[in-house]
Amino acid sequence: MEELNTMDRALAGKVALVTGAGRGIGKAIAEALSEQGATVLVNYNGSREQALEVVERIKKKNGRAEAVGCDVSDFAACGKMVEELIGRYGRVDILVNNAGITRDNLILRMTEEEYDKVLDTNLKGAFNTIRHLSRYFLKQRSGKIVNITSVSGVMGNAGQSNYSASKAGLIGLTKSVARELAGKGICVNAIAPGYIATDMTEALPEKARQALLQRIPMEKAGQPEDIARAAVFLSGSGSDYITGQVLCVDGGMAM
Ligand code: NDP
Repeated sequence: MEELNTMDRALAGKVALVTGAGRGIGKAIAEALSEQGATVLVNYNGSREQALEVVERIKKKNGRAEAVGCDVSDFAACGKMVEELIGRYGRVDILVNNAGITRDNLILRMTEEEYDKVLDTNLKGAFNTIRHLSRYFLKQRSGKIVNITSVSGVMGNAGQSNYSASKAGLIGLTKSVARELAGKGICVNAIAPGYIATDMTEALPEKARQALLQRIPMEKAGQPEDIARAAVFLSGSGSDYITGQVLCVDGGMAM
């Protein structure tokens, strides 16, 4: 009976890898893809326990999931993760590059380490997974890549030159890879969230959060589920003629 229900769902039979899916936006994306029938590979770096909890929640709803530890900024480790997953599942259909960090500072005070760490995780991390998975997408002649960028990458943001550079770079990566793979049945798009209520924004000083809220025409923060719904759309057949795009999910912030 459950199998029949699964077959009705838009992503039944698909295998999805979501990076940084133990918490926040990644967790919401993993759960939403699972609700559509996808088998979800829940990547984590530091949050092993939380990733295992996500897997448990999915399994309780009769979904399929596995927690996969890997630091996405490590090129060789990403290669190993991809080979192991292909060995176990035979394919990956959907890649969501969600893993991301901030190390905010004004440009005059920003350290080389703060700059490098953010670029290595947010931008090189996406390159690493795409680089290793794209040969399988090409063999399959299908695939959906969704990169989670930010309105900071579209508009810039004072105090976030490293983060904005990484997210703007991710938009360039999205568009270039989209052009390379467009003729091969592979779609590559980005989602640019605005201010979403997660650990990342919880860590901001109250004054900074209030300033951000004032810049949102809809006058409220978004929820991880708002991003998850866009990710489901860009992972499914409803977006088959869309590639190289940046979808801002931001309550009107970046218009
Ligand atoms: P959180 O800080 O809540 O979560 C960050 C996630 O990234 C965690 O799951 C973390 O995994 C993962 N991660 C960090 N470094 C690595 C790494 N080296 N390898 C693998 N995973 C890693 O952030 P959000 O959920 O808010 O953000 C998710 C994405 O959305 C990020 O790319 C962020 O830049 C973007 N975004 C968020 C916005 C917001 O307002 N919240 C706005 C715009 C964009 P772990 O804990 O296991 O290390």
